[in-house]
This record gives sequence, C-alpha cells and structure tokens, in this order.
Amino acid sequence: MENKDDKLKDVISHAKEYGYIFPSSEIYDGLAATYDYGQLGSELKNNIKQYWWKAMVQMHENIVGIDSAIFMHPTVWKASGHVDAFNDPLIDNKDSKKRYRADVLIEEHIEKIRQKIEKEVTKGKKRFGDDFDEAQFRETNPNVLRNVSKIKEIEDRMRKGLDDGDLESIYQLIVDLEISCPISGSKNWTEVRQFNLMFSTELGSVAGDAATIYLRPETAQGIFVNFLNVQKSGRMKVPFGIAQIGKAFRNEIVARQFIFRMREFEQMEMQFFVRPGEELKWYEYWKEVRVKWHQALGLGESNYRFHDHIKLAHYANAACDIEFDFPMGFKELEGIHSRTDFDLKQHEQHAGKKLQYFDPEMNQNYVPYVIETSLGLDRMFLAVFSSSLQQEKLEDGSERSVLKLPAALAPYKVAVMPLTKKDGLPEKAREIIDGLKLDFQCQYDEKDSIGKRYRRQDAIGTPFSVTVDHQTLEDNTVTIRDRDTMEQDRIPIAELPGRLGDRVEMKALLKQL
Ligand code: ATP
Repeated sequence: MENKDDKLKDVISHAKEYGYIFPSSEIYDGLAATYDYGQLGSELKNNIKQYWWKAMVQMHENIVGIDSAIFMHPTVWKASGHVDAFNDPLIDNKDSKKRYRADVLIEEHIEKIRQKIEKEVTKGKKRFGDDFDEAQFRETNPNVLRNVSKIKEIEDRMRKGLDDGDLESIYQLIVDLEISCPISGSKNWTEVRQFNLMFSTELGSVAGDAATIYLRPETAQGIFVNFLNVQKSGRMKVPFGIAQIGKAFRNEIVARQFIFRMREFEQMEMQFFVRPGEELKWYEYWKEVRVKWHQALGLGESNYRFHDHIKLAHYANAACDIEFDFPMGFKELEGIHSRTDFDLKQHEQHAGKKLQYFDPEMNQNYVPYVIETSLGLDRMFLAVFSSSLQQEKLEDGSERSVLKLPAALAPYKVAVMPLTKKDGLPEKAREIIDGLKLDFQCQYDEKDSIGKRYRRQDAIGTPFSVTVDHQTLEDNTVTIRDRDTMEQDRIPIAELPGRLGDRVEMKALLKQL
C-alpha cells in the first residue's frame, strides 16, 4: 500500500494537473499556505457548499442562512475572547529553526502511543483468530493497559498546563516525553510562548483616526451579533438555527499539509439557539445529524471517528470533533460545541444591549444556549478529494487514476464525446449537450482517442461519459459509460436525463438524510 506522504503528494499533484487547486501567486513562487481553486476546484467547492446549505437550511424549516461582513466592530473580538485568548502555544526548535504548536507536538506523540495499542490489538487478533474477544483484550492486556494509562497521564498534564496557562509545564512535558523535532531530530527547544492568531489591519484613511480592526477568525460571531435581527425579522421561535458560509483568517503558526491548515480558509457554521437546560439533548441531536450528512457521501464509514475534547473551552459544557482519515492520518474535520450562553451574554455586556428571547410557551425571557456545528470547507474538500482519488489495476494489466467523487459533487456530471470529428458527429454531440445543459453541467470533448478521453474523464471525476457514433445518427441511441464500473450501455438519447438525474442530482444525497 502507498504510504501516507506519497498519498498526500499524489493528491497535491493530481489537484494541480487537473485544474482543481493551484498554489496561490504561483508565478511569484507562491505564498505560504495559500491556495487558489481552479476551474474544477471551484465547481467541487461550490457543490460541497450547496450540499451543506441545502441540508442545513432547505431541509430544516427552523434554520435560516445569512452572509455577514468579514470586517466587524473591533469590540466583537474583545467580547468573544479572541483579543485576549485566541492564542496558540508555540515552540521553536533551535537547530532546524522550525516553529511548532506545542500542543500539536504532544498530540502527535499521543497518536504514536495509540498506534502502538492498535498494533498490539492486531497482533492479538492474529494470535487468537476466531476466539478473539477484542473488548476483553483491551481491558486486560498489560501492554495495552500500560499505554492507555500513559496516554491518560499525558493528557491530564497537558490539559492542566493549558487550562492554567502554565507554559513552563507544557515545555517540561515536551522535554519529559523526549519529543524531538521531526526535521532536525534534535531536542533543543526554546521556551513555549503564546501567539495571537488574528490578522489585524487599519480601517479609515486619516492618520490618527484609523482604528485597528481584525479579519474575522471565525464566521460564528457574525451570527451572534445578528441573533436578534434574524429572530425578530424572521419571527423565529426557539429552537432555531442560523447558518453561514464564509471566509475566515488565522495567522497559523504552522500552516502545512496543503489545504488542511491555511491562513485564509472558508467555514460553514451553524449556531442553533435552544432553551437553557436543553442544550445537551440538542448537542447529541446535532452530533447524529452531522455524522449522517458525512456518511451520505459514501466515502467510507471507517474514515470517520469522534474525538471528545480533552480541553474544553471555558464556556463550553461539551465539545467533540468529527475526525477524518486524511492522507496525514485522522484529524479534525468538523467541530460540534455546546457553547452555553457565553457568546450572547458577552455581547450583551460589551454592547450594553439585551440579546434575549421571549419564550411564549414559558412566558419568560432568557438568553438562549447555543449548539454550534463548525465545518471547514477546505478540509471537507480535502476529505472528499483525497478519499476519492484511487489508483486501480485493470483486468488487462494497465492502471487508471480515477477520482471517484460522489456523483452529486462532481464538477461535470457528464462528458459528451463524438467518436470522430467528422460526419456530423460533433454537431450531434452538441445537440445532446444543448438538451442536457439546463439541468446538468456538461463537458464537450473531442480531442484524442476515445480510450484517452475516458481516462481523462476518470481522472477529473466525471461520473458519466456519453459517446456519439454513426449509429447515433441512424437511431438516436448513444453509449453511456459509468466511471466507477466502466460498464457501457446503449440507450436512447431521450433516456439520458432520467439516467443521469437519479445519480448526479443533489437530491440523491439529500434523500438519505
Ligand atoms: P485546529 O485544532 O485544527 O486548529 P480548531 O479547533 O482551531 O482547529 P475551530 O476553531 O473549531 O478549529 O474551527 C472550526 C473548523 O474550521 C475546523 O473544524 C476546521 O475544519 C476549520 N479550520 C480551522 N482552522 C483552519 C485552517 N487554518 N485551515 C483550514 N480550515 C480550518
């Protein structure tokens, strides 16, 4: 099997070669951790957005969407805690001069211990065969138990250090665990320091009058400050949600791993406002709904897992991540947080305005509690793209690179190809496209042999290819080829919309929710 580094490299080069993702400002040698979505990437990204928006807004009568400004009043970020506490603990290796997030170094160390546990379990499975009782093995095997308690001890120390803001103890933990720099291999570390992740800029052109403002580090605050506007103008009743998709900016210390961690990225967030006391019920509800949304894509159930937060933010009373098995291993894809009434209360205090809801059933005013679902659009893109990209060995011994995108997300739904460039076949192909293009994104392709054209459509993820040949001119039938099975079928042109629609429309996904 291909190793993980190679897989990520393949993903990056495939994305570039086929117009999905380019390094930003590439002719100037690029800008670290910024990327541009190309002609196919922007289509895929838009389709992911549409899937999310329709699932959240169109499918829930009590959720509405907004589009708030990136610039916000500077006090918003004071109230939200970002000015004082949106910091990452960073540490430098003195030999490689590379900078790391101290908590990430420790998490990676924990992950290595976890892998040891899994190895032990796999060994056990082999040894005991059909008699293997995994649960019992995990509870009794001394090596597993030793590693589990090791992890717990490290997690406890890390949580305490981060909670207390005790950076010295985080440094000590890195030293005690003998964590070395992945680049230089040395354990020659600087102390741990805090670093604020918000980008700032100046608003206003008159010197002295300019106010420092921030590029929003999350889209959520645009929802909180509009809570009452939306509730009143939309006559919304608790429980209800507000969704938003938009750019966010973070001056990440370590921005690596392609579009997984960028300094400019997009979020798809939804804040769900509920009665105080009912938040944990809704937290469980949203965990389930969100996992279903992911699973409907068919990227493989084993690619997902939940990770409960070790360190709860001071305002949260429950939080977890949905992790995905990226080319770099399991990492956070989406966060689900029970944020209590922290944000609205903070804004009440800082703005001096009431942000309360009158509940007619309870005959009472209150500040609603909030469940947040927060998904990184670019990470979602990477999850979809990397798990869809497959190398297949074919029966004739050759190989193909195929991007098995969920059909509803694919940039082109169908490619229409005339067998040759003459005899009226191109005109017929264009006529077919004219009949389909009101409903489906189509591509016309006449260059190279049919075999090569199929390979190209496989590589860009087009679920169906339709070939127009001489028989088409006689009886109005075409060959339709399925990307995944490579099976070909001869069908009347009139049946194409029905054949495509069942598979490629967003409905096919939404129906499963
Ligand atoms: P991480 O621990 O990976 O830095 P986070 O816990 O800070 O992420 P949140 O603040 O919960 O992330 O943001 C919600 C979602 O936004 C994340 O689950 C992720 O999908 C996405 N996200 C956060 N930071 C980035 C980034 N730098 N680049 C791309 N996506 C990001």
